[in-house]
Amino acid sequence: MQDKGPSVLLIYTGGTIGMKEDGRGALTPFDFDGLMGFVPELGRFTCRIDHYSFSPLIDSSDVEPGLWVRLAEIIRDRYDDYDGFVILHGTDTMAYSASVLSFMLENLSKPVIFTGSQLPVGRPRTDGKENLISSVEIAVAKDSDGSAVVPEVCIFFNSQLLRGNRSTKADSTSFHAFRSPNYPPLATAGIDILYNEKHIMHPSSEAFRINTSLDTRVSILKVHPGITPQVVRDILLGSDTRAVIIETYGSGNAISKDWFVDIVRESSAMGKILLNVTQCLAGTVNMDIYATGRALRDAGVVSGRDLTTEAALAKLFCLMGSTSDNAEVKRRLELNLRGEISSF
Ligand code: ASP
Repeated sequence: MQDKGPSVLLIYTGGTIGMKEDGRGALTPFDFDGLMGFVPELGRFTCRIDHYSFSPLIDSSDVEPGLWVRLAEIIRDRYDDYDGFVILHGTDTMAYSASVLSFMLENLSKPVIFTGSQLPVGRPRTDGKENLISSVEIAVAKDSDGSAVVPEVCIFFNSQLLRGNRSTKADSTSFHAFRSPNYPPLATAGIDILYNEKHIMHPSSEAFRINTSLDTRVSILKVHPGITPQVVRDILLGSDTRAVIIETYGSGNAISKDWFVDIVRESSAMGKILLNVTQCLAGTVNMDIYATGRALRDAGVVSGRDLTTEAALAKLFCLMGSTSDNAEVKRRLELNLRGEISSF
């Protein structure tokens, strides 16, 4: 049988990488052929590169769950036809999309690489070309046994390949836009692309499938000095809220005053899912250290450990979409499902 050779599907959703200035100087997206015109280097790859373009192309600030469902379905429908997938996406919500897709795609055995750029691909100093070209190379990279080197949902940006559900956009202007504060890069691109093999996950032998049922009834409460009881009540007791991510100080501490702990207890008694993540860029929640943390733990708050807020949202959306049983969601929040939390 003739070897078909490696192939990659490029999925173009929009973002700065493919934008140009309109007559008034604002950036707006242009079509896929226009984008490719700026990256002739892709023609030199020996792999087949097909594309799928969203219409309309969007600034990723407008991403909605429907886009994640479409991405998952596109990948499912073409899963057997390609060695890997590269998703061109705006940087603003890329970490959210990569986090959600990591939970929607189950038993993934092929790379799904999100990338984009800080400067449009038509600009002389663009970071878009390097990001795109390296992403394609990673999407088709194979081990000696023919399996994908990185069968994960990732973000490639500024020479680093990061696990998608460990990533966060940490810089709005530098090319070094993304960080993975609690997990090392899966690869670094220099003269060669060096893979960090011992940190890459490998799939089970079960069949690939997608989960497209998402429940997004989640709020985020960022505690801060001066927050009022009414604001806390509005968020924690909101009638359409099934889960609340509480962004706490340091290792999972919040206000120890009775009024705050009482509202947390009331919310928990209403059956809401309360998940504690830290406001710090790096490190983990440990509700056993301080009395303020223990009060949350005793009120029924689940530790998000070293989850990013993006991954916490994504995990909740997917777990809540899969069951109406909040106790089961809480149980599964504690499990490491896609490499999103560390075991300590
Ligand atoms: N606003 C743009 C977006 O997220 C920013 C970018 O792509 O870098 O689509």
